[in-house]
Amino acid sequence: MSLFDWFANRRKSDSVDHPGQEREIADGLWTKCEACGVLAYTKDLQANQMVCLDCGHHMRVFSDERIQQLIDPGTWLPLDRDVRPVDPLGFFDRKSYSDRIVEAQTKSGLVDAVQTGLGDLDSLPIALGVMDFRFMGGSMGSVVGEKLTRAIERATAERRAMIIICASGGARMQEGMLSLMQMAKISGALEHHREAGCLYIPVLTHPTTGGVTASFAMLGDIIIAEPKALIGFAGRRVIEQTLREKLPDNFQTAEYLQQNGFVDAIVPRTQLKSTLARLVRLHHGSNQSRITSAIVGHEARFHTDRLDDRLPDVHTNSHHLDRPNVDGVIATPS
Ligand SMILES: [Zn+2]
Repeated sequence: MSLFDWFANRRKSDSVDHPGQEREIADGLWTKCEACGVLAYTKDLQANQMVCLDCGHHMRVFSDERIQQLIDPGTWLPLDRDVRPVDPLGFFDRKSYSDRIVEAQTKSGLVDAVQTGLGDLDSLPIALGVMDFRFMGGSMGSVVGEKLTRAIERATAERRAMIIICASGGARMQEGMLSLMQMAKISGALEHHREAGCLYIPVLTHPTTGGVTASFAMLGDIIIAEPKALIGFAGRRVIEQTLREKLPDNFQTAEYLQQNGFVDAIVPRTQLKSTLARLVRLHHGSNQSRITSAIVGHEARFHTDRLDDRLPDVHTNSHHLDRPNVDGVIATPS
């Protein structure tokens, strides 16, 4: 028997013995990168936080994985899990909004499009909000607004840094004006958080659009984005038709926004936790007028000699147009 025949026979007998095995392999063990097409062992990809090992493409991850990636094990305390969406307008398009809610809840296992909670990030107490694109495109309705507002208020009361991982198609049209009101409500809570001298960092992931971009995603003291994330307000086609102008190819990417001053730093997901930890730690230190030891890591290098002067300014002036750029504070390798 040739080697080829031996393999052919073996494959045949395997598939007879285990009819589900091939399907299982196709379904879960391997994942194909949608950017470069390379097949990777899913466990390796997960260990690399779903960033392609070949081309660096950031695959979509959802709220549970995000929390796991950022929060120290055993420290996560979820907030307001009982806040549930209702259908205040009795909205109906092709389906009723009530049916859409039930469908999204069944599919995702979530109550609505955000998870909030308290936890430790590298032993630093923070409040975290994580939007989930699986739930009706991460749209912002009353529940997203209410849960984020309560989390920010809790962060203000306990003087914690607030971090929000944004991923959203915008306001939830099925709730009409009620969804638009959330923009003002969250922004108001963030203003109190800022007045209390606390740090707020939004992390813009793919995609962050519409009313989320037009409110809390852009109100950070330091605004971080993931590489190549789509970030914008209106869609490209709408803008091109309105302006009657062709937009550049990289328009509405994280990189384009950084060039134009809307985003402070683009941080790869694999370095996100360590970068956030350093920023929170530095802010905490500056609040107490002490920056401990020079922090120089191989992932993100902070110029701590200049920080003593600059960090209080970064925080105080963060909402001014001529605010100092975070480039002077952190440098991430390209
Ligand atoms: Zn790839």
